[in-house]
Amino acid sequence: MRGEDTIRQAIRGIVDLYRNRFDLWKAADSPKIGWVSIQTPEEIFLAAGLIPLRITGELESSATDACARLGNNYCSYLLSCFSEGLAGVYDFADGVIFADACDMRKKLWEAWTRDIPSMTTYFLDLPCYVSAISKEYFAQRLRKLITEMEHRYGRKISEEALREAIDICNRSRTLMQRLYRYKKGGRQVLTGGESIQVVKAATTGLKEHFNRKMSALLEALAAAEPPPAPRKGHRVMICGSYFDQQGIIDAIENGGAALVCEDISNGVKYFEGQIDPDAEPVTAIADYYLEKYTSARRLEIDVRIQHILDLVQEYQVDSVIYYSIKFCDTNLHDYPYVLERLREAKIPVLSIESERNVTNLASIRTRIQTFLESRMF
Ligand code: SF4
Repeated sequence: MRGEDTIRQAIRGIVDLYRNRFDLWKAADSPKIGWVSIQTPEEIFLAAGLIPLRITGELESSATDACARLGNNYCSYLLSCFSEGLAGVYDFADGVIFADACDMRKKLWEAWTRDIPSMTTYFLDLPCYVSAISKEYFAQRLRKLITEMEHRYGRKISEEALREAIDICNRSRTLMQRLYRYKKGGRQVLTGGESIQVVKAATTGLKEHFNRKMSALLEALAAAEPPPAPRKGHRVMICGSYFDQQGIIDAIENGGAALVCEDISNGVKYFEGQIDPDAEPVTAIADYYLEKYTSARRLEIDVRIQHILDLVQEYQVDSVIYYSIKFCDTNLHDYPYVLERLREAKIPVLSIESERNVTNLASIRTRIQTFLESRMF
């Protein structure tokens, strides 16, 4: 089999892991817990013997029931997650954990607890500031969570189990970071849509499966003949709210540009950095999740801006698409300042706002085409 075929097959293997996730979850004996924020410390659940899986809200097309309970002017990503919960899509799981990553997630926790009583819910306080005190506070919250898990599942979460879970998750991060080096270097081994699917596969909690499949892909890439020199194309980065809208990715890629970096929870935000394997495990987990925390909710906005500017450099980005889900105040509030700072750095920015199920795709496509044409030709 030619190298390129082996690479395509390895990519398909990872995408299939995500596609077949429900079958794999249901077939696994371990208890499962859902999560909706990438600030959720998956290591603690893995150490407790659980499968921590991300709820993505892709299966329910109607959010009518969820809207009736939470309101119409609500984040449509969370409405779709709640719709799945109400429809019993995650009935095989024991519970759901909500990190305090935005007000709407907090309200979702309240609604989930009230309306889906068959599932145990947990709420994790998440400090907005990053400091020695907030890290210590967050570490205390994690210790409380560990105690809750120990009582619930009747087993001790040992330091050794936490270290093992840290190792597995760090390995996933390293593998994804290695894959994204190809995107930095200009070799587009994945489309934008495939990149998001790969990161989603990592969020299924099926870490050992994922690590094996990623290793196979990286081996295939290393063994392949060097590709011809990459076409010098327009390089786009997307940042902002929860994002996985294939129609918008198609508009970028069919417009002749390449989506080279996704500064979102289904992109680099998920796998940046490493947990210190030599430090005391709970302290190291707390430090990692607060330090890597560059989302719009973080109060020190200049940390977020610097992170965006660093990514622009690393991925040789030509322009940025700032995506906000409608009613996502967290990201919309930051936008004017992000725009100002990127303009100062002479980086063109296009702002797009839409629902999770993009209903205004035709107009968005036109805006993206116009934006790209004015930069590329
Ligand atoms: S998209 Fe915005 S409102 Fe929705 S969960 Fe994320 S931060 Fe919260």
